[in-house]
Amino acid sequence: MFPFDDHPLYTSALIFVLAFGAISFPALFWIVAPYGRHARAGWGPTIPARWGWVIMEAPSPIGFALVYFQSEAASRPAPAVLFALWQVHYLYRAFVFPFRMRAEGKRKPALTVGLAFLFNCCNGPMNAFAITMLAPHLLGDSAHLTPRFLSGCAVFGIGWAINQRSDSILRNLRAPGETGYKIPHGGMFRFVTSPNYLGEIIEWTGFAIAAWTAPALAFALFTAANLVPRAVAHHSWYHEKFPEYPPQRRAVIPYFW
Ligand code: NDP
Repeated sequence: MFPFDDHPLYTSALIFVLAFGAISFPALFWIVAPYGRHARAGWGPTIPARWGWVIMEAPSPIGFALVYFQSEAASRPAPAVLFALWQVHYLYRAFVFPFRMRAEGKRKPALTVGLAFLFNCCNGPMNAFAITMLAPHLLGDSAHLTPRFLSGCAVFGIGWAINQRSDSILRNLRAPGETGYKIPHGGMFRFVTSPNYLGEIIEWTGFAIAAWTAPALAFALFTAANLVPRAVAHHSWYHEKFPEYPPQRRAVIPYFW
């Protein structure tokens, strides 16, 4: 799982993702990433939010595919399923989501785009490398039919559905051209403020269960480290802006946090 000596680029990427997550988790409780409702001056030059999303997310599906198809394992069923899960999520996030979001006039700091770009340049290729080159458990004819693989895929699917539905509810809060905020209702918003983040965390946890590789685990941990503090910040923000905000709703984990 940790071939530290043989693959220096892979190992460096893995250490980078783990370190980024370990630093981000405590830091993001103090310094909320300055985009969306938390955008503020003092973070340098900005770029249009839509293009920011494309630039920062595109390296993930592209880098994953470039590395994936270098390997003969690309034609094995279990890696192929993992490839499909990755691409379903990231092709949407990089090339569809940015053009569906209601973000007229919104901008993102180039700094946050640059950091996410760098992260995705490591994370996509590193995960493709691990599932094709370092995971003999994924190469068997029936590796895609094991209980662990199937349950991981099912968890991914549940997370993906929660993430998609929640992002759709958020998107439909604004009419075209609107930029303000309203209280979201329906779906998993009954339980938490940021079900889109909860869905994303569940997705990558499922991917990690199915893939059973160090990079997939590192990415699932990173996702939680990145999104839990942001969900907590969103939660406080709603309570400040909307005195009528549903009091029973938690930030990101139903009934708990
Ligand atoms: P947010 O929930 O902050 O916003 C999503 C979209 O909905 C934005 O366009 C936002 O507008 C709009 N929106 C949010 N709340 C409201 C509201 N109350 N009223 C009206 N519009 C609203 O999510 P992010 O932008 O942070 O993330 C988008 C997606 O990317 C999510 O699905 C998330 O899971 C994923 N993501 C994944 C990460 C990872 O580490 N894997 C990291 C970051 C995001 P505005 O931008 O104007 O606030």
